[in-house]
Amino acid sequence: MKQRKIPLRKCVACQEMMPKRDLIRVVKTPEDEIVIDLKGKKSGRGAYLCGKLSCFKLAKKSKALDRALKSAVSTEIYDQLEQDFIHVEDEFISTKEELLGEE
Ligand SMILES: [Zn+2]
Repeated sequence: MKQRKIPLRKCVACQEMMPKRDLIRVVKTPEDEIVIDLKGKKSGRGAYLCGKLSCFKLAKKSKALDRALKSAVSTEIYDQLEQDFIHVEDEFISTKEELLGEE
């Protein structure tokens, strides 16, 4: 039986290894913007988080993104990302369901 390799990434908040597609990527762009990269295509240093708001809150509390992105992430940016996170959470889940449907 052939087994497909699933790329694993570590959630910066809970340190769990998860399939890449189950994680939300936060990227620091070359323009020094910190944004959520839902498609995983943006260039820059990336950090992965479980697609769960609880993990984002944990990252915020422990400043895990600061460490993962090797730069200071201000509270304002965390707040902004948290808002975005809430929005993308739904989109993320539905995208994943679409992908699963294709298989
Ligand atoms: Zn996590």
